[in-house]
Amino acid sequence: MTVDLEDLRLRVYTSLASTGRAPDLATVAQERGVGEEDVQAALRELAAARHLALDASGKIALAHPFATVDLGFSVKGTNTLWWGGCIWDSFAIPHLVPDEREVLVATTCQGCGRAHAWVVGREAPPDGEQIAHFLVPAAHMWDDVIFTCSNQRAFCDERCLDAWLDRQGHARGYATDLATVWRLATGWYAGRLDRGYVRREPSAAHEYLRGAGLSGAFWGL
Ligand SMILES: [Zn+2]
Ligand SMILES: [Zn+2]
Repeated sequence: MTVDLEDLRLRVYTSLASTGRAPDLATVAQERGVGEEDVQAALRELAAARHLALDASGKIALAHPFATVDLGFSVKGTNTLWWGGCIWDSFAIPHLVPDEREVLVATTCQGCGRAHAWVVGREAPPDGEQIAHFLVPAAHMWDDVIFTCSNQRAFCDERCLDAWLDRQGHARGYATDLATVWRLATGWYAGRLDRGYVRREPSAAHEYLRGAGLSGAFWGL
């Protein structure tokens, strides 16, 4: 039995948007009168098309901007509590979920462990002097997207970022301010809760990234 991929994608996204949880696969299989293995096969196809990311056991870990596991960010709305996939994803949730125009995003500095939280809405970037750091360059973000998201984090300042890079033995990626991350987040995931969503072509993605104020080889620009 085959499962309609767009139908399943929407089922996953609407469940995550409204409850913060991925749907139960047995329930989805029952709703559609198919076997769980059919749903699992369809999820693998969606993952291959980069609509979501599965963990090693085949469970949904990410359907951007939503995560089902702790990748460092909680995002609290009025009705729903989410895991945010990364700082980019967390800032995107209020732009995507119709009834949640403002959320509380909380995380810790990777460098020193200090807690950071921002009220993030649709009208303007959140207040804050912290910086965001992206470790994996755009061309390789999907090589292991769970690793990539888990390394798109916030830091108190350059000192905390340097301390973390030293400790991890990582080369510096791309650091920027919160306002840039917010601009990046505003429209990046637009349409994902709608039927017939199509991922951006590379040229449109590049145009979007430039419009958010990004440049350089890290972003492929
Ligand atoms: Zn710090
Ligand atoms: Zn992410």
